[in-house]
Order: sequence, then C-alpha cells, then structure tokens
Amino acid sequence: MDDLRDLYQATILDHNKRPRNFGELATANRVAEGNNPLCGDQLRVHVRVGSDGGVEDIAFEGSGCAISTASASLMTEFVKNLSRDEVDGAFEAFHDLVTRGPGDEVEPRSLNKLAVFSGVREYPMRVKCATLAWHTLRAALDNSGQTAVTE
Ligand code: ZN
Repeated sequence: MDDLRDLYQATILDHNKRPRNFGELATANRVAEGNNPLCGDQLRVHVRVGSDGGVEDIAFEGSGCAISTASASLMTEFVKNLSRDEVDGAFEAFHDLVTRGPGDEVEPRSLNKLAVFSGVREYPMRVKCATLAWHTLRAALDNSGQTAVTE
C-alpha cells in the first residue's frame, strides 16, 4: 500500500512539474475559466469541440497548487477524444473517487491514471483543487461563458 501511495505521489509531482497539454490551443472553439478561491487555483481550459460535442483537442493554462495543476494535466490526457457522454461519466467517476467515504471501496480501474487522486478524499479542502479542472471543462463544453467557481 505504501508503494502504491509513493507511486501516486510521484505521478502527481511529475504532472505538476511538467504539466501535459499546457498552454493555449490555437484551434480551440471553447474556452472557460475556473477559480478556486479557497486555495488560489486559477485555470483556463481551451477545448476544440467536435460537431458531435466530443473533445477533439484540449489544453490548459493557469497557476495553482500541485493537486490542481496535476489534476488538470491528467484530465487533459484522459478526456482527449472522448465523447460528451464519456466526459460526463468520467467526471462522475472522478468526483466519486475523491469524495467517497473512507470505508467505501474504490473501483478506479476505469479511471486509469486518475486513480492517483484517491488519497485526496482524506483532505476535504483538496477536493476542490482536484475537481477544479473538471468543473472548468464542463463549463467550456456547456459554452456557458461563465467562470466555474468551486463553492
Ligand atoms: Zn489548490
């Protein structure tokens, strides 16, 4: 179990240090901003949405803590080429992963590398850091033009 925890921490630190899909996306047709005032995390997510509503390409910029940056980085890798339904399913599974109670069993297989955030549920303040990128992605897909703010 300690080995797994070390692996999870190493993945989060790696994605914080070298975030994937970081920067602007010239071909984006949706942009949304996310803000987590509790921690000071700020993200902007750029998405190229296909005619079917799926994610054809995605990038993000911003600054925040290691959890929010790593979560955004891993999310962009995960959702690329997913349909809108698949993105919504992943959002729900990820939200469950980081908020379920300590006694609940986790089935992280469908989330692949996103399972590294399972430890976040022990730190309720960090849940908003981990989910900020997802809320922001949803705002972009909904094209709401509003800033996603964790409450
Ligand atoms: Zn944070």
